[in-house]
Amino acid sequence: MRVQSFRTFGRMIWGRYFLTAGLQSCRCRVSCHVKRHFSFLPDDVKSLRAVVNPDISKIRNIGIMAHIDAGKTTTTERMLYYSGYTRALGDVDDGDTVTDFMAQERERGITIQSAAVTFDWKSHRINLIDTPGHVDFTLEVERALRVLDGAVAVFDASAGVEAQTLTVWRQAEKHHVPCVCFLNKMDKPAANLSFSIESIRQKLKANPVLLQIPVGSGKNFTGVVDLLTNQKLIWKRRSMGDDGRTFESKPLDQSDEPELLQEVNEARAALIEQVADLDDEFAELLLTDFSDSFDAVPSVKLQEAVRRVTLARKGVPVLCGSSLKNKGVQPLLDAIIAYLPAPNERHHDLVRWYKDDLCALAFKVLHDKQRGPLVFLRIYSGTLKPQTAVHNINRNSTERMSRLLVPFADQHVEIPSMTAGNIALTVGLKQTVTGDTIVSSKASAAAAARRAQNDNGMGKKRGEHATVVLSGVEVPDPVFFCTIEPPTMAKQADLDNALNCLQREDPSLKVRVDPDSGQTVLCGMGELHIEIVHDRIRREYGIETHLGPLQVAYRETVLHEASTTDTLDRTVGERRHVVTVELAVRPVDISSTVGSCELAFTEKVGRQLPQEMKDAVENGVHSSYLQGPLLGYPLQGVSTQIQSVNMEPGTSPAMVSACVSRCMLKALKLAGGKVLEPVMSLEVTVGEEHLSSVLGDLAQRRGTVRDIQSRHDDKVLLATVPLAEMMGYSTILRTLTSGNATFSLELDSYEAMNPQDQNTLLKRMAGLL
Ligand code: GDP
Ligand code: MG
Repeated sequence: MRVQSFRTFGRMIWGRYFLTAGLQSCRCRVSCHVKRHFSFLPDDVKSLRAVVNPDISKIRNIGIMAHIDAGKTTTTERMLYYSGYTRALGDVDDGDTVTDFMAQERERGITIQSAAVTFDWKSHRINLIDTPGHVDFTLEVERALRVLDGAVAVFDASAGVEAQTLTVWRQAEKHHVPCVCFLNKMDKPAANLSFSIESIRQKLKANPVLLQIPVGSGKNFTGVVDLLTNQKLIWKRRSMGDDGRTFESKPLDQSDEPELLQEVNEARAALIEQVADLDDEFAELLLTDFSDSFDAVPSVKLQEAVRRVTLARKGVPVLCGSSLKNKGVQPLLDAIIAYLPAPNERHHDLVRWYKDDLCALAFKVLHDKQRGPLVFLRIYSGTLKPQTAVHNINRNSTERMSRLLVPFADQHVEIPSMTAGNIALTVGLKQTVTGDTIVSSKASAAAAARRAQNDNGMGKKRGEHATVVLSGVEVPDPVFFCTIEPPTMAKQADLDNALNCLQREDPSLKVRVDPDSGQTVLCGMGELHIEIVHDRIRREYGIETHLGPLQVAYRETVLHEASTTDTLDRTVGERRHVVTVELAVRPVDISSTVGSCELAFTEKVGRQLPQEMKDAVENGVHSSYLQGPLLGYPLQGVSTQIQSVNMEPGTSPAMVSACVSRCMLKALKLAGGKVLEPVMSLEVTVGEEHLSSVLGDLAQRRGTVRDIQSRHDDKVLLATVPLAEMMGYSTILRTLTSGNATFSLELDSYEAMNPQDQNTLLKRMAGLL
């Protein structure tokens, strides 16, 4: 009987409150011996007062970001364990961790969805959002980053900065999220502190501030010296199953090895100097009060300065450890509290505009069979209460929230209210979609909009809504698509429902119906993305679907400029519609990867055409942008100018749209088509002995090698390759290198296919038809 099963299944009334069943691990651990062990529940949920109302300065909303396999999940598990929220050490290799809770994640050992987990550490509330490391899920990362106040970047100390970390780091920068770095896997023989630090400096263009020196290396890595306090923290392995919960902490003294003493002295002096360079207040303190000996500066002063440096993003504290071997995780938790900001140290305009009114962002929707949609909210201002109505600005709808939960590690605890700065889990919000802004009422949104407008001064007249809504996450266009079929027609409605639910959780999943065949088409960010969706439909909705072949989402563009005119003259019933349109299309820059087609009216048309007709013209143009004339793929890099629109009175807008579409098609055909294909940037890390076979294979995939770098004994190959050539690459790479390579793939750009490849594609498509 495992501890977790009854904790998650325990439901009891304790005081006025319910302790409710957890979603995460209860699915797989049912037990009927539950009640016997109820007695320890209150001890588990330490103090309900603390659960309900942590002071905002004691909250840390943190994300962990990393390249896949750097040890994010293992580190998270250790944090939960040391903070007392799990009773057993989870292990990704055994597939029983708390945060990787979807069945696919357990099987694949990767983290797909960012699940929020709450725990307490030294009187602080830590809300941790586990972000996925796989490139197919960068949107999840981006979404998570928006609700975080700080982040921990976990690195494999033998690999330094890897491709995916770079992507996530850039995203963190975009959202001005302060970071702490954790060099994990210090127990590996190839772990290398100075190499990792240098790669943080070079690749991330960040300023690493080293706060610890490792004691021992490889198998003999036993702990760290804290450079702020000169304390030596040692995890002595006393037994086989030692969990690292206790460790020895004692000041460094002359009995320690001279090399270590010298290394620490030098590193500490460098640290003090570096921090003084970055923080004026600290520099002044050193020069006035400690000019005789900088070393005598109190560690709290140094710590305060490191905190200011971190919050200002002038530097990133670097710590080291080995999560798997249970070393160095507690100091990492201390660092989260010491250096990363509380919610009230981050500046969100919205907080000022909403004052004490509720404003929250739905950053994650999950579908639970029993409880319906569960919505994770980050509360920016005001208070959230269950059994109340809330207003969703994006959907312009009001709905009722039935219950409010705190997502503690492996149990969800029901609470009567929740205040600003927290992460909450709500039950009952049926219309809310990931990315929506939730407020208490329409009136409070209007009041905030007025304050926002006053703030911005009279100059800026933006739509009232735009200013008070938390801006959504940019959803990149999908690069892959395939048809999906239910087992029988009778199951189509169930499939539609499943796809609706999945789309609410994951805006990067797009679903459309092919107008010609009537088939449902899934569009996603990568092979794995579509595979996971397929898998979830089977597991969670019990529908066995059939996927068509995976196809690349090509685009089309025009070769040269062309202008044309078209007239539509049609009588419908009694009414005669006559409209003549003249327009020109021309190619523009295609470098951007997000839809980049333009529409403009000449000045005269812009002045004369009524708004209703302008909208009709716009509809006509945009519908032709969705389907290029060559193969029916969406257009990119096309600019259209409307030169004249003349119509007889009584002509309907629908007819104007139809005429514009027809005219567009004519112009696009005249302008000549060209197929654009998604080109990916690829990074492969491989042992030198396999490099030539990987290179040979890439040459056959129309790949272009940009650079080959060295990393210890490995080579890092940077290349660009058309996505169409990358299907099933993970399997092929595994075969080529006997499993000794890793790779990451990211959309680089859309590029014109060379005429030969385009011809092959056109022929293949014609053959398929
Ligand atoms: P994630 O993909 O970043 O979530 O990484 P995981 O936590 O799933 O770990 C990936 C692999 O690295 C697993 O096999 C872990 O057992 C292993 N691992 C994690 N931390 C350490 C560590 O500190 N040292 C060593 N040697 N291996 C580790
Ligand atoms: Mg993981």
